[in-house]
Amino acid sequence: MAKCRICGKPGFVYVSEYKGYLCKEHYSRFIESKVDRCVKRFALLRGIKRLLIGLSGGKDSIALLYIMNRLYGDKIELEGLHINLGIPGYSGESQQIVDKLSSITGIKVSFINLCADYGFSIKKAADYYFKKRINRPPCSVCGTVKRYLLNKYAVEKGFDAVATGHNLDDILRFASTNIVTGDVSNLVKQVPREESTHPKIVTKIRPLCYLSNKETLNYVEANNLPIVRTTCPYKPSERKLAPMLASKIGEIEAVIPGFKSMYINNLWRKIIPSIKTEPVELNECEICGMPTSIKVCSFCKIRHILTSDQSEERFL
Ligand code: SF4
Ligand code: ZN
Ligand code: ZN
Repeated sequence: MAKCRICGKPGFVYVSEYKGYLCKEHYSRFIESKVDRCVKRFALLRGIKRLLIGLSGGKDSIALLYIMNRLYGDKIELEGLHINLGIPGYSGESQQIVDKLSSITGIKVSFINLCADYGFSIKKAADYYFKKRINRPPCSVCGTVKRYLLNKYAVEKGFDAVATGHNLDDILRFASTNIVTGDVSNLVKQVPREESTHPKIVTKIRPLCYLSNKETLNYVEANNLPIVRTTCPYKPSERKLAPMLASKIGEIEAVIPGFKSMYINNLWRKIIPSIKTEPVELNECEICGMPTSIKVCSFCKIRHILTSDQSEERFL
């Protein structure tokens, strides 16, 4: 059996940087040092005393909270936030997993229940758009809802920043999709640290941006952490553009090791800085008062459409 290159214990996983296997403990330290280097390189925690971590219950957010607690739990105040999205067969398990992680780490986690607190669910949104034959995928609604609620909670509770579990593969998949579709202005937000641009918009950080899917999965297994095993019923099919691009990027990396690092570094150093964007004027949403470039923010539009008897024409 392969042995750990550092201590000689049974090897857990092959690590190309070590040209050999590492045991669970040394693999965990290796991953944590990668995150720590990233945090320092991009000054992700500059000025941050209270950090809110978005917890979906998936491998990335679970690894994120665990790693941040191990590395900085004695220096900054950490809290988790889980949003129960009301997705049958998925949301219940997600909430239980997050609850378990809170018990394991001792980190406080707060919960928002979309159905109970806001009167609609992602299932209701998916059913509505399907019935109306409106091409709005559930993930698009879900993304809007999660971004809005995480930011709103952080602003109201006085957090300095929100951390999310976006990893290297997520960022490259998103970047590739936007390059192919020509939506390059969307790329400017795909950075390790996105500064606040308004008193009601908190800074966003992505400490796992140098870890791959495989690395976060190995990390949660090495540390025996609970993660949601059920797949969301609304996950896009493998035949959609984004998953296909992600799979191609993985194939290139297998033939050309270091391809993903080259891609992400060029994205941050060359591509994003060369994108010219006009500053967006922000107003207060007529309904909730949160910043928006239009009269009523996307979250309030979705909520109104799904919870009121009035026609949706007002917003469509
Ligand atoms: Fe939301 Fe889509 Fe993820 Fe399901 S797969 S939780 S709908 S973003
Ligand atoms: Zn070892
Ligand atoms: Zn609003």
